[in-house]
Amino acid sequence: MKITVGLLAPKEEGMEKDMPEGIGLLDEMMADEEKYPLTKKSNDAMMKALMENRHLGAADPENPKDFWVKIAEFWDMPEEEAKMRRCGNCEYFDNTLEAKKAMEVVPVTEFDKKGGERGYCHKYTFICHDLRTCDQWEEKEYEDE
Ligand code: SF4
Repeated sequence: MKITVGLLAPKEEGMEKDMPEGIGLLDEMMADEEKYPLTKKSNDAMMKALMENRHLGAADPENPKDFWVKIAEFWDMPEEEAKMRRCGNCEYFDNTLEAKKAMEVVPVTEFDKKGGERGYCHKYTFICHDLRTCDQWEEKEYEDE
């Protein structure tokens, strides 16, 4: 007698599961353009404007020069406290899989690589980085379920 197992095994009655339509395993995850408006042009323009007007930086987090001194003055707090405020813990930072997919429209640059992980900023609709910050930082709340 021949016994077949795995995918080749005959299906037993009542064992087949109904898959909901449209949730096939091979469906590509699609970026939501309304939730994540973004183009390379809009990203570049917003990044430049924020560096000039909202203390976005440090351009090179490993060599920040006087970046933290200046933003600490702006926030009127000690430099060490200012350094704890990063995009990575700002409430507008989104590094979900959906955001990562949406950010693929903008090619990764050397500026990205210096900044750590990319995240989508919902306040300014551009790509920020977990090692950087801007003066509009707001604390992300931990949600206890
Ligand atoms: S608002 Fe928050 S996430 Fe957006 S650039 Fe500023 S610090 Fe980063």
